[in-house]
Amino acid sequence: MGWPRVLVAGGSIGGLTAAVLLRDLGCEVDVLERSQAALEDRGAGIVVLPITERYFTERGGEDDRVSLELTYWTYMDREGNVLSADPDHFRFSGWSTIYRSLLQAFGPDRYHLGKEMVGFDNRTDQVTLHLADGSSVEGDLLVCADGLLSTARSILMPEATPRYAGYVAWRGTTPEAALSEQARADLADSMIYQVLDHGHILVYAIPDHEGRTTPPHRVINFVWYRNYPLGGAFEDLMRDEHGLQRTGTMPPGTVRQEHLTEMRSTATEVLAPTLLEVVMGCDETLIQAVFDLESPQMAFGRLCLIGDAAIGLRPHVAAGQAKACADGWALRDALLAANGDVSSALAAWEPGQLALGNRALARTREMGVASQFEGTMVPGDPNWKFGLWEPGN
Ligand SMILES: Cc1cc2nc3c(=O)[nH]c(=O)nc-3n(C[C@H](O)[C@H](O)[C@H](O)COP(=O)(O)OP(=O)(O)OC[C@H]3O[C@@H](n4cnc5c(N)ncnc54)[C@H](O)[C@@H]3O)c2cc1C
Repeated sequence: MGWPRVLVAGGSIGGLTAAVLLRDLGCEVDVLERSQAALEDRGAGIVVLPITERYFTERGGEDDRVSLELTYWTYMDREGNVLSADPDHFRFSGWSTIYRSLLQAFGPDRYHLGKEMVGFDNRTDQVTLHLADGSSVEGDLLVCADGLLSTARSILMPEATPRYAGYVAWRGTTPEAALSEQARADLADSMIYQVLDHGHILVYAIPDHEGRTTPPHRVINFVWYRNYPLGGAFEDLMRDEHGLQRTGTMPPGTVRQEHLTEMRSTATEVLAPTLLEVVMGCDETLIQAVFDLESPQMAFGRLCLIGDAAIGLRPHVAAGQAKACADGWALRDALLAANGDVSSALAAWEPGQLALGNRALARTREMGVASQFEGTMVPGDPNWKFGLWEPGN
């Protein structure tokens, strides 16, 4: 049996990772991405678990890494005193750094922008993907990596919808060079958390847009989790200055001035001096709402859901991207083991990925509830270590 012809719907990090792996296996792969232009920086920094950059580390080793390492996991109090500083080796990057590297590895020829999946016919012998421009494409396997608001999932399982967790992440970056000497020293080698009343913030360095990973060229990323209940506060926050109601993300430039002013004024009251500098130094703040998404199924005939399209994690284990990549690696392994037979591969692939996603979802939900609502997040708790499989891994 030959390798299947693969269509990947959604060309972000999850879709691109599956695409390069299946292409390298010998499949003919096309990526169909809804956006008209190459994807832009979303959500600034990300924690990079080993599987997220495995494609690069396995091919080239140290020089091909797309992240930087910080060696301390630190908690600070409001005054800036260090409550705990554990030696650690987590890696950090920018979403766009990884996206650009994957896109370069895949190449532009089969990466099709402006191609929105609107439906499919999932037959026993082939799958036909229907696009918003009226055209259709045929394949043997359709990998749907179309994110939390997945079109494919809404067709297959309309009852599986993301549930708002009751809080959002305020996010942004500040150039390291613009910070005070004290802040630069604090952040030189540390990711810093501060546990707040019904919330928390974490701050860490990531490479700059040129990929530079050493001080003072890096940028400093912050992620501040704050509660906005549904039924008023959340909807008000997510309405932009033109009255447009947004569901998941308020991109830079869309958050209303009154909310920016309130956020900065609260920051002055509650944040440690170094973290405050990072937040105040950012002039392109964005907001991402936090959701849970459970799904009972990931494989459907010749189609599968991967990444956020299948199961959406709260960000506290920093593994959403890693899970999307893990789904792609496991799919590659399953196709290899099944000699390219799509049905056998998907049947072997699905149970492990469902179990992995649901376990991570349960863990990250507990963490969110503890920090945002129960006030039981404890500085230095080893269970807070990032990881897809377990804390630290
Ligand atoms: C605050 C916050 C912090 C986070 N931090 C981290 C972190 O540190 N580490 C980490 O690993 N993860 C983190 N995550 C999670 C991570 O961002 C997501 O899990 C990840 O982006 C999911 O990748 P994906 O490829 O599945 O989907 P997405 O990145 O959402 O990509 C979906 C793609 O599909 C396209 N698309 C949508 N519909 C269609 C369609 N109909 N046809 C064609 N294309 C379509 C979209 O344009 C998009 O490009 C964080 C998330 C949040 C909210």
